[in-house]
This record gives sequence, structure tokens and C-alpha cells, in this order.
Amino acid sequence: MPADAIKTDVLVVGGGMVGAAFAAALAETGLAITVLDAEVPAAVADVPAATVDGVEPRVSALTYATQSLLANLGAWQHVPASRACAYTHMDVWDADGTGAIHFDAADTGTQALGWIVENRTIAAALHQACRQHANIDWRAPVRVTRMARAGRGWQVELADGTLFETTLLVGADGAQSQVREQTGFHLRQHDYRHRAIVATVETALPHDNCARQRFMGSGPLAFLPLADANRRHRLCSVVWSCVPQEAERLLGLDDAAFAAEIAAALENRLGSVVAVSRRAAFPLIERHADRYVQDQVVLIGDAAHTVHPLAGQGVNLGFLDAATLAEEIAGNLSRGLPFDEPLALRRFERRRKLHNLVMQKSFAGFKTLFAARALPVRWVRNTGMSLLDGVAPLKVLAARQAMGLDGDLPARCRPAPRGTHLVRPS
Ligand SMILES: Cc1cc2nc3c(=O)[nH]c(=O)nc-3n(C[C@H](O)[C@H](O)[C@H](O)COP(=O)(O)OP(=O)(O)OC[C@H]3O[C@@H](n4cnc5c(N)ncnc54)[C@H](O)[C@@H]3O)c2cc1C
Repeated sequence: MPADAIKTDVLVVGGGMVGAAFAAALAETGLAITVLDAEVPAAVADVPAATVDGVEPRVSALTYATQSLLANLGAWQHVPASRACAYTHMDVWDADGTGAIHFDAADTGTQALGWIVENRTIAAALHQACRQHANIDWRAPVRVTRMARAGRGWQVELADGTLFETTLLVGADGAQSQVREQTGFHLRQHDYRHRAIVATVETALPHDNCARQRFMGSGPLAFLPLADANRRHRLCSVVWSCVPQEAERLLGLDDAAFAAEIAAALENRLGSVVAVSRRAAFPLIERHADRYVQDQVVLIGDAAHTVHPLAGQGVNLGFLDAATLAEEIAGNLSRGLPFDEPLALRRFERRRKLHNLVMQKSFAGFKTLFAARALPVRWVRNTGMSLLDGVAPLKVLAARQAMGLDGDLPARCRPAPRGTHLVRPS
């Protein structure tokens, strides 16, 4: 081992939303943490968005569990009120029938079902939180050129020749993870044969803090409410999933034609679409690594799994990975064990992998169910939705699942007692 290698306990490749959350969650252990990212972190923009071009097209619907985690990590306070929209209602309906469900935060005893925030703002807020910890060494922009086993841990080399020697290597470097590829993890993947078009739109009618999702045979369309400068509630982030040929056609339309099509696709529930931002499209691929832990390497977030965005859960699952891994490592230390004691790392894998798999398969099942044209399937689908809508306890259960409030939650993701949550007006 060269004498000039920088020694660190935990080296995280990827300082996006999940990698930054993991570093912030682990910081209180006092371990030496290094975060490497290919890009310089964005600054938090505290300027309210006035037009469709003032919003980053990539946004995430954050669950209650995620909001609690961000608050506990000292990041939520860096999310400007002007860039976070609490949604209090959700309407989901089947384009091909009468099935519909309406969720209301009041029924679940909470003040909001979730929050819509730009990915850039979430990552920037988490970076701010990391900056409060002297034991986090954040390096960006950097390019990792080599990873090799060194003793019990790993040696990681950057393009500028900087060498790190780490006991534990964490891959939080997204769906195309270099860590996963170069350290020998096996990945299963399935192409959904869908592309997601994302854009910001302005509508004639206010969104009233309601998230709307219409399931069409060709794929789901979501209108997610956004905060805006003058509280007119007319900006929405849209995610329209469809087959690649249809995505190409929609991307090729001029703004006016796209606006007319997307308003009609939402059955004009928010009136006409009066402005559209630039559009981007993402191929949708389901991925899952067979293992999350192997040879002193751990995968979290999109590096370990990607899901269809129809339920808006991808990064929420990643945040649960981050909080659970930090919790297991801290647990080792509090029991006087080495921080990377293998049983705890395996426990992390067990706690997260089954949950992620169940969620991934449910979203894939939803996609198939709503794509089905056969009359009996459509009948079952519509009847099921209407039945669920009419049975309050079942509906609350479904809502709590979507809000991330049930299941094996790491302590940091458990919401504060009722009444102490800050729901910002937007
Ligand atoms: C259309 C669409 C809509 C979505 N909507 C939602 C939603 O509403 N709610 C939700 O929960 N999820 C949603 N998701 C999923 C969500 O966007 C992802 O799960 C999330 O971005 C994953 O975060 P991550 O930090 O794991 O990875 P990423 O966001 O991909 O971050 C990876 C980081 O690693 C860095 N990096 C990559 N490679 C290297 C390298 N070799 N060296 C150094 N750094 C590197 C990158 O610069 C980046 O900062 C959506 C996804 C799509 C496609």
C-alpha cells in the first residue's frame, strides 16, 4: 500500500440524494467518512419559481418517513419553503372505466400525504447538512479510475492520482453504478419498455395541493403539485410513462400541441395547460442486485435497485437503505463491535432487500394490471379501486403504506409525534 494513501473508515462513491443522506446519518458515529462525487453539489436556490422554467424537471414525491429522516438529519431546514409543496390529497383513477380512489391526509391523521421537491434541492439540502460534520470529507468533482482490494478493505484511485484506503466501500452512485459493476455484484434487470417524459407545466386551474394520477392502457400520467412564487398553485411536475414510440411522438410535438395532449390526457381536470417547460425522457428499467453486501462493499439506493416511477417510491426506498445501513453500523459501535461487523451488514441486507423486492414487484404488477385490455381484468380493476375507496380502514392502510409509515422503519425515519411536523404553506 503506498504511504500516501488517504485512510478513511467508510468511502461513499456518489453524493446524490441517497449517498449524502447516508453520510449525514452516519456522521454522529465519529467514523471518518469520505464522499466522492462526479459533480459539484448544487447550491440551494431560495428563489420561488414563478414560471415553468424556474423548476428543475426532476422532482421526487417524498414520503412522511423520508421527510422525518431529512428533518432528523438537519437537512429539511435547508429545503426552502418556496421549493417544497405539501400535498394533502391524492386522486388516482382508471382512464378505462369508473374505478377511482381519493386519499385525504385528514383520514390518516396527518397534515400531508407527502411533499414534492426538486431532486436538486433535496441533494443540496443534504449536502448542507453534511457540511456541518467535520468527519465528512466531501470531494467533488472527481473521477474514480480504479478500485482494488487492499487487505481487508479497498483502495480507490482518482483520475488525479489521489489514493484512498477504506475499510468499507459504499456504492451510492446511481443506476449505472461503477462500484456495482467493478466490484463483482450480479444484477438482474428487466426493461419495462416504457419511457418517462418529465416536464413542468402551468395549468389554468389551481392544483389545490392534490397529486393526480390517471392510469391509461398506454401507461400512467401523474400531475404533481409544485410550490410557486405567488401561491397561485398552478405549477405541476408531470411524469408521463408510455411506450418508446409514443414517447418519441410526444417529444417531437411543439409546445402547444404537447400542452393540448397532456391536458386532454388528464381529462382537463386542471383546465388547459397554458405553458410547458423543456421536456426530458428517461428509459424505465427495473434493476435489482442479487446481493447488497459483498466483500466489504455495500450498495444503496439506485445502485442496488430501480423501480417504475408510477408509485413515486424510488428514492424513498433508497433513503430507507441509507438510514438502515447507518443504524446497523451505529448499532455495532454501541455494542462495542467493529463498525463493519459482518452480521450487522447482513442484517441491513435482510431488512432492506425483501422490502425493496416486494415494492418493486408490486409496482411492476400495477403496470401490468393497468395495461390489461381484457374486459374481465378491467372489471376487476375498476371494482377493486371503487371497493377500496369505500372501505375507510383499508384505504388508510394503503395510504400509510404509500406514506412509508408502516413496516420496519429505522428510528430516524419515524415521524415526530403528531402536531410537531412542519407543513409549510405553498
Ligand atoms: C421519471 C422519474 C421520476 C421519478 N420520481 C420519483 C418520485 O416521485 N419519488 C421517488 O421516490 N423516486 C422517484 N424516482 C426515482 C429517483 O429519481 C431515484 O431513485 C433517485 O434519483 C436515486 O437516487 P440515488 O442517490 O440513489 O442516485 P442518483 O440520484 O443517480 O445519484 C447518484 C450520484 O452519484 C454520482 N455518481 C455517479 N457515478 C459516479 C462515479 N463513478 N463517481 C462519482 N460519483 C458518481 C452522481 O453524480 C450522483 O450525484 C423517479 C425516477 C424517474 C426516472
